[in-house]
Amino acid sequence: MEEISLFVVTVFVVGLLVGSFLNALIYRLKSGEKILFSRSHCLKCNRVLTWLDLIPVFSWLILRGRCRYCCSPISIQYPLVELSTALLFVFVFIGLGAKPAPIAVEIMDLVTLGFYLFSAAVFIVVFAYDLRYGLIPDKVILPAIVIGVLYKSFLGRWEDLLSGLGAGLFFLAIIWLTKGKGMGGGDVKLGAFIGLLLGWPNALAGLYLSFVLGAIVSLGLIATRRKKFGQTIPFGPFLAVGAIMAMFYGNWLIDWYFNAILR
Ligand SMILES: [Zn+2]
Repeated sequence: MEEISLFVVTVFVVGLLVGSFLNALIYRLKSGEKILFSRSHCLKCNRVLTWLDLIPVFSWLILRGRCRYCCSPISIQYPLVELSTALLFVFVFIGLGAKPAPIAVEIMDLVTLGFYLFSAAVFIVVFAYDLRYGLIPDKVILPAIVIGVLYKSFLGRWEDLLSGLGAGLFFLAIIWLTKGKGMGGGDVKLGAFIGLLLGWPNALAGLYLSFVLGAIVSLGLIATRRKKFGQTIPFGPFLAVGAIMAMFYGNWLIDWYFNAILR
C-alpha cells in the first residue's frame, strides 16, 4: 500500500513537470520559438525566468499569478495545465492498474502506460491550444496519429486502425455536409486519433460525449449571452474531454446505455 502511494506521488510530480513543459510547448508552438532548449521568459518584460519562477503550480500561487519582475498577470492556464496533467497522469496510472514494483512491470505494460500518458498529454495540449487559439496544431496531432498507428500495429489491433479511419471519415463527412462551418481539418485529425486510441465501440462513446458536452456548453453560452446563435466555438476541447471520459468510462457507459434502451 505504501509502495503504491509512493508511486502515485511520483506519477503526480512527473505529471506536474510534464504539464510545465506542455505550457511551454503551447506557447512556443504559437510564437515559433524553438520547442526544446529555449529559456522560459516573461511574455511581457522578457526577463528569463529562474527555477524559482518555474516550480509547477507553487510559483504561480506564491507570486499570486504575477511576474516577479514586472508584476504583469500570468495566465491561470499555467497552473491549470500543470494540475490537470498531474491528475490525468495519476488517473491513467491507476486506471491501467499499473503494478507498483518496477521489476515486476512487463515491458509491454510500460509501453502501454507510456502510450496512454502520451495520449493524455496530447489531449491537454489540444484542449488548451484550441480553446486559446482556435486551432489544433499539426505539429502535435500528426505525430500523435503516427505514434498511435505504430502502437496499435505493434499490438496487431488492426480493427483500431479501421476505427481511426472511420472516425476521420465521419468528421470529413460532417465538414462536407455543413460546408466547413464549425469544424475544420484539425477536428478530422483529432477524431481519427480518438478512433485509433479508443477503438470500436469506445470511440463512439467518446464522440457521443463530445457532441453532448458541446451542445450543453454552447446552449449555456448562448443563454448567458456570451455567444450568439450561429457563432462558432472550437470543438477540439470537447473532443479532448469526451475522449478522456471514454478512456476511463467508455465501456461502462456503453453497457449502461444499451441496458437502458433494451430493457
Ligand atoms: Zn515580467
